[in-house]
Amino acid sequence: MTQERFVPGHRGPAFVAEAVVCCLFQGNRVFVGRDAGGAPQLPLLDVQAMGLSLKLAHYLGRLDGRHCYGLHLPQGAQPPAGLENLGMRALILEGNDLASALAGQAFQLLEWERTHRHCGACGAPTTAHALDRAVECPDCRIVYYPRISPVMMALVYRKTDNGGEVLLTRKAGYAPGRFTVVAGFVEAGESLEQCLAREVKEEVGVDIRNPRYFGSQPWPFPNSLVMAFSAEWAGGEVVPDGTELEDARWFSIDALPDLPEPVHISRQLIDDTLVQLRNSR
Ligand SMILES: [Zn+2]
Repeated sequence: MTQERFVPGHRGPAFVAEAVVCCLFQGNRVFVGRDAGGAPQLPLLDVQAMGLSLKLAHYLGRLDGRHCYGLHLPQGAQPPAGLENLGMRALILEGNDLASALAGQAFQLLEWERTHRHCGACGAPTTAHALDRAVECPDCRIVYYPRISPVMMALVYRKTDNGGEVLLTRKAGYAPGRFTVVAGFVEAGESLEQCLAREVKEEVGVDIRNPRYFGSQPWPFPNSLVMAFSAEWAGGEVVPDGTELEDARWFSIDALPDLPEPVHISRQLIDDTLVQLRNSR
């Protein structure tokens, strides 16, 4: 995200006289405008004039000096004129980091709010927490923060006489011919290193060593935070698990299959690892 344009915050005014920057959703789709170059832009809208209340919106911060909110347009309500209604995945794939990061954050917060209207322990309606971005049960005082699910991603590689190989997998239903890395959710009580080793062992049957952190990417379907690592092969034959994976095999760095789009951190991890293997030839 381009931080200098955006100043995050979680407490904003419940009434703003001028137009505000909106991550406006109807169902799972978001309304965007287009700049002169055709890139998606979050629209400036006078939400009060549209009959919406900022009291029901999530404050995100200030974008280019203007307040920025995530909110829902009720099903059946008239959409604002001149805007395009995009699916969240389509917006992310277009690669405008700032628009897709803010819309992704708003998307997660609105979904968290929709699913935390009542306390999971006693059933009482929750209320906004006084200080944090959270809701609280007024009876048993349990605080519910927005849920984030950590996902570990691993690209396993090994050096060979020809430079190297990377271990790529595909699930049934994935785009034809396309392969990607191993990934899975972190379980309760597990360290990131343990999760990495377990997921790789479970999915493709090999052992790893020297895990190296590459980077992270929030993925709002519905609330993942993907942490990407490369790891060196330490032993074992590749055996796809047969349930989650349809195929898994070594690919020479000079003969790769179709890979995920560059916007995905999986692809950035693969590209980075390929550069390192090629440089070490
Ligand atoms: Zn309660």
